[in-house]
Amino acid sequence: MSVDNKKPGKRPLYVYTLIAVVVILILNMLVLPSVQEKAVEKTDYSTFLSNVDRGNVSKAEIQDDYIYYVVRKNGVDTICKTVRMEDPQLVDRLYEAGTSMEAVEPEKQSILLSLIIGYVMPIAIFILLGRWLSKKMMNSMGGGPGGMMSFGKSNAKVYVKSSTGIKFTDVAGEDEAKELLSEIVDYLHNPHKYTEIGASMPKGALLVGPPGTGKTLLAKAVAGEAEVPFFSISGSEFVEMFVGMGAAKVRDLFQQANEKAPCIVFIDEIDTIGKKRDNGGITGGNDEREQTLNQLLTEMDGFDGSKGVVILAATNRPDSLDPALLRPGRFDRRIPVELPDLKGREEILKVHAKKIKIADSVRFEEIAKAAAGASGAELANIVNEAALRAVRDGRKFATQADFEESIEVVIAGYQKKNRVLSNKEKLIVSYHEIGHALVAAKQTDSAPVHKITIIPRTSGALGYTMQVDEQEHFLMSKEELENKIATFTGGRAAEELIFHSITTGASNDIEQATKIARAMISRYGMSDDFDMVAMESMSNQYLGGDASLSCSFETQTLLDKKVVELVRRQHEKAYKILQDNIDKLHELAKFLFEHETITGEEFMKILNTPTPAIEAEENTQVQA
Ligand code: ADP
Ligand code: MG
Ligand code: ZN
Repeated sequence: MSVDNKKPGKRPLYVYTLIAVVVILILNMLVLPSVQEKAVEKTDYSTFLSNVDRGNVSKAEIQDDYIYYVVRKNGVDTICKTVRMEDPQLVDRLYEAGTSMEAVEPEKQSILLSLIIGYVMPIAIFILLGRWLSKKMMNSMGGGPGGMMSFGKSNAKVYVKSSTGIKFTDVAGEDEAKELLSEIVDYLHNPHKYTEIGASMPKGALLVGPPGTGKTLLAKAVAGEAEVPFFSISGSEFVEMFVGMGAAKVRDLFQQANEKAPCIVFIDEIDTIGKKRDNGGITGGNDEREQTLNQLLTEMDGFDGSKGVVILAATNRPDSLDPALLRPGRFDRRIPVELPDLKGREEILKVHAKKIKIADSVRFEEIAKAAAGASGAELANIVNEAALRAVRDGRKFATQADFEESIEVVIAGYQKKNRVLSNKEKLIVSYHEIGHALVAAKQTDSAPVHKITIIPRTSGALGYTMQVDEQEHFLMSKEELENKIATFTGGRAAEELIFHSITTGASNDIEQATKIARAMISRYGMSDDFDMVAMESMSNQYLGGDASLSCSFETQTLLDKKVVELVRRQHEKAYKILQDNIDKLHELAKFLFEHETITGEEFMKILNTPTPAIEAEENTQVQA
């Protein structure tokens, strides 16, 4: 039932035929002559005659073209063969020498034998081999006596507790994710607690985050903690060579899961099957994937959540997932698994360092600081590299120097990807992010920030300001929208104010600010120039939305100009706000620079306590 014994099945038939023919030919060359010739020694006619004259030939058989005879030398009989010559006296000579004339030729029987060995046996072997192979092939695809009929059995591996052995304690950091997942584990252990009150668990939880942050590890930890069967399958395993196999596999997977409930089904890298279906595509090239996805959706809807089947999935690319997968009742719980911050990195290093011997003098905090932006997988790698270095140098344990060196080795590998920030970059990003937050906080209508972090994100943004209001706001006033634009420009404004130069870090802000400004003027009627005239209409609302312009060329030009004006006004406003609060900007940016994360509470606390004079001075040194 594993993947490897499928491989022979994929080789086309003609390859086997070819191999068979070649082998038969080789056998013929080797076996046939040897069978015939081993027993028969070829001699020339004169040797034959001299043997006859010496009386060494005991028997002879004269055929049309050849003469077979038996020579007795030192008591050993040898069958010999020679060509027949036109020799009328031969019979007399033989007679005189006392040679008896009888059948000598050994071939009759040996030809039959050699035929059997040379032709019949190989063919028989190949027929048997072929039968055996095709049987195996069927088994590997069909999974048992059902043969062809049970194509597409899923090859989800069933993990039970003993085989993973991974616990939540093996996953460092990621406390949020662990908390959300332990609720699921708890549910699987005491379903009554939940069903009594009428609560039902979310059917599915989606682990999202950049590669190497421990998504797969978390899922395994859930399996280890929950002590229930754990089906693990990778999205790519659904994509099969036969049309319809993917869907069949999904069906089978859920059938198995239903039988084994309570249990956990884990679909790793779900983006391989869960990609957005293209709307109205003419190509139809991805029917297979779409069918698989549809089957998955159907199955998720179909089964009864109270039975205790929980579906976990992991992906690095949540943005590419089909929206249908994310709607309530399917993967309605989203568990972010982000790159670790300073504290998280330290913990991960410690977890992995338990597996190796280290010197007492190792300071994990420093190592964690130096590895800003590294993922859990990279940190695990750093620890391993350090151990390898210690061995190379003939030491019994890893030292601080080993760790520092190995950071360089590992980081050099991914510095190209531009994910690890230099101190200078980190400082700029800190000011940029605080710029956003400060502008947001100082404008009356803007929601306070929830959390800011300068750990690089998957989206490519270097920092990240989480505002609380994101979704629940449907009606927004003109002022709120303007403030939002100001907040978006706040990052760039801080860079201008502090560093007097600008960076590429604001590209996403620019896009967002432009989008809002444009919508305000072209769709929300929030400018004096156009009043309530719609210049753009939206189509495809459910699938991201496409705006199409519906106005004259001149108006378009004017519209663009108005958008620029609107954004510029807000940008200036943001700059002014930051200028007026430059002490707080320094103080907050310094905090963020040092801790890499700042929560809304910490932010408000710093903002609302007066800045001591000494610190303000120190802050001016940071810029230097
Ligand atoms: P993902 O599935 O998110 O790409 P994995 O779960 O496969 O990442 O993680 C790869 C390896 O990195 C793990 O096996 C583990 O050794 C290490 N790792 C990643 N994150 C953590 C973490 N939070 N704590 C401990 N180890 C981690
Ligand atoms: Mg993974
Ligand atoms: Zn920004």
